[in-house]
Amino acid sequence: MSPLEATSTSCASQPASCRHGNLNASARRWFLQKKMAESVVRALYGRGTSLTLASKKIKEVPKCVSRLTNLSVLLLNNNSISALPAELLSLQHLAELNLGNNALKEVPAVLGHLESLKKLYLFSNQITVVPPEVIGGLQNLVVLNLNHNQIQRLPPEIKSLSRLQRLSVLDNKLEEVPVELGHLTSLSEINLTSNHLSWLPQQLYQCKELTKLYVARNKLTSLPEGIGTLAKLQVLDVAGNKLSMFPVEFHLLPLKEVYCEGNRFVRCEPMASVQDAEVLSLKELVARFVLREDRNRSSLVHRMLPHYPFLTDLLANGSRCALCLGPFLTTWLECVHFIRLKDVKVRSSLTIPVRALLCSYKCFNADGHSYYGVAKR
Ligand SMILES: [Zn+2]
Repeated sequence: MSPLEATSTSCASQPASCRHGNLNASARRWFLQKKMAESVVRALYGRGTSLTLASKKIKEVPKCVSRLTNLSVLLLNNNSISALPAELLSLQHLAELNLGNNALKEVPAVLGHLESLKKLYLFSNQITVVPPEVIGGLQNLVVLNLNHNQIQRLPPEIKSLSRLQRLSVLDNKLEEVPVELGHLTSLSEINLTSNHLSWLPQQLYQCKELTKLYVARNKLTSLPEGIGTLAKLQVLDVAGNKLSMFPVEFHLLPLKEVYCEGNRFVRCEPMASVQDAEVLSLKELVARFVLREDRNRSSLVHRMLPHYPFLTDLLANGSRCALCLGPFLTTWLECVHFIRLKDVKVRSSLTIPVRALLCSYKCFNADGHSYYGVAKR
């Protein structure tokens, strides 16, 4: 069978109504099918690498498309496709596939065999499930767009997408994101806007190429500590969450745009407070001593610590006082300072509360600083 026969038998057949010149609904459908067949035939004969079947009211992808083995771009958006034929796995040169605005209920299994895919658009379908075996087969993906679906979770196998630069899961039902997201070290843009996220994994900060992070309209009560590692972050959108303050050293990021309206930030207002006498535990006292000694490269403690990996791991959780820079491990005073963001485009407030930790009341009661205690209501 020639390619032309293949398309004319499986893609288009003329309904009787058309023979009478009656332009009713079925005639219009026939017209669209004819256009679609012409596109496929053109691609077959022209040895084209791009095929556009967008907005053609397609319910099933014609199997003859699988004969276009040189295809690198396939646009199937704005149709009514609910499944993909397994035959499409012959498209081993396909780099871009647009299935946006269709009727898919899950990410089609055949996609897991299209290893050449670099850009995959699945926005505006009814997808609830992202199967691990499919996502695990897309190692070359650079752009993944899953916007406007009903996805509740992303599988840990997402860590296979080591070349992914842009991940967009806007307007879904995600309740958490997998810690494996931290393996995607090529990511420069993540959009998790309008989901149900109440927390973000600290591993997200391993994505050090990140320049844009959108997590607006979720249920976040805090951002994980350690955000300073995102040294390239330029745009952050956390609007419409439940944040009370930003994490420690947030104001040192090279941000150009911050969107943070609609949160529950602490406000600066005077109120009386009682300071309970602080009694540090023996563990805390020893930890502070060891952490301080460890800063001195010639000290015995600094030289001996590598021989005690358990202790090293434990002390790795230590931090330092924002005022005296002295170390501490498990006991600190939660404080806040109000930072006026300069050279940053901000939609609402220019002054933001940033978390700061102090080692003791001695530091807190010292003169000449702008750290405030945080009142719990
Ligand atoms: Zn201190």
